[in-house]
Amino acid sequence: MVLHRLNSVILFLTVWLVISSSVSRAAERFDIDYIAEIKPGQGVAEVRIQLRGAELPRKLVLHLDEDRHSDLQTTDPLEIKGDKATWRPSGDKATLNYQFRIDEQKASGSYDSRITPDWAILRTDKLIPPISATLPAGLRSRAYLQLEMPKAWSAALPYEEVSGDRFRIKDPGRRFKRPKGWMIIGKIGSRQDIIAGVSTRVAAPLGDNIRRQDALAFLNWNLPEVVKVFPEFPERLLVVMAGDPMWLGGLSGTRSLFMHADRPLISGNRTSSLIHELVHVATGIRGDGQSDWIVEGLAEFYALEILRRSGGISDDRYQEALEGLEEWGQKSRSLFRKRSSGATTARAAVIMAAVDREIRSASDNRASIDDVARGLAKERGKVTLAQFRRLAEKAAGKPVEALSEESLADR
Ligand SMILES: [Zn+2]
Repeated sequence: MVLHRLNSVILFLTVWLVISSSVSRAAERFDIDYIAEIKPGQGVAEVRIQLRGAELPRKLVLHLDEDRHSDLQTTDPLEIKGDKATWRPSGDKATLNYQFRIDEQKASGSYDSRITPDWAILRTDKLIPPISATLPAGLRSRAYLQLEMPKAWSAALPYEEVSGDRFRIKDPGRRFKRPKGWMIIGKIGSRQDIIAGVSTRVAAPLGDNIRRQDALAFLNWNLPEVVKVFPEFPERLLVVMAGDPMWLGGLSGTRSLFMHADRPLISGNRTSSLIHELVHVATGIRGDGQSDWIVEGLAEFYALEILRRSGGISDDRYQEALEGLEEWGQKSRSLFRKRSSGATTARAAVIMAAVDREIRSASDNRASIDDVARGLAKERGKVTLAQFRRLAEKAAGKPVEALSEESLADR
């Protein structure tokens, strides 16, 4: 009896301790200020990461790009080994400074990051490198990115601007929040609209002959169909456009994408690079070394399928386009390459169309490849063939022939 009562007391105390500690922990938050001073004359950004709070992370490992991040400085313990910098913040305020080189030229000679006297286009997830954080349990962050730029410059980022050039960073699921996605700053022009609940902005350097309105109208017409497939589509979308010498193609990022201004909205083979990149933004999936064909195949399939659904192309033209992709796909010997492009992506898109047909006929049109794509988007991260098969089988209610060993075999 006494023992029993003692047990109850201990249980009560334990429960009380757990509750009270979780209540006090939940309130613990520290602030991260990313401050980037843009210096067009030197082609760099001077970056300052400032932490403030009663409790700070014990250890932060920055995964640097040695060609672009340099001159790291802090009064806290800092250890740099190759591309890893280990920063151990101390006290209730800690600061790390470094320099970031903005220009990045690809082997082809074109740029995927560039600064000129009038504007800059770059990715914030390169400006601020990936950071692995060791945080006490329950500690969370609130983060802002503040830009300091030449007079007459303005900024477009896929984040809420809370005051002049200061952006509140959303980074769901991350306790140490960090900005991600494209940004454009400088003398820029932009057009915006709310499309299917998505605050959409198309921005480009001023002066270039760039058709922002055409792109926005195209989004008005197709983004709602994309959002129907992916209801979790980000609430903000930034489309950055620019001409040469920027990279002649599309590149997706978090809540954002870059598209070269010379790329047509609909290509000769009737797929759309803009929709292709939108699907990458929507799914947030990547290959596991062998499954890039799934990532690229889905994006390319929807680049055509969304146009058909929005009335952009007729069923006949859609069939013709699929036949064209099928013919091109014959040239692909294997799907399981690290990077899927050209013929392999064409072959993969045709496989997606077959998967869709099979699921629709097996389910009496109650399910489609949309359920599979939504499932992958929900799980995000690295996609595997096993996971793709599992979701397709679930939607069809039976194994999907188009994903059998024979259908996917090398040839
Ligand atoms: Zn792609």
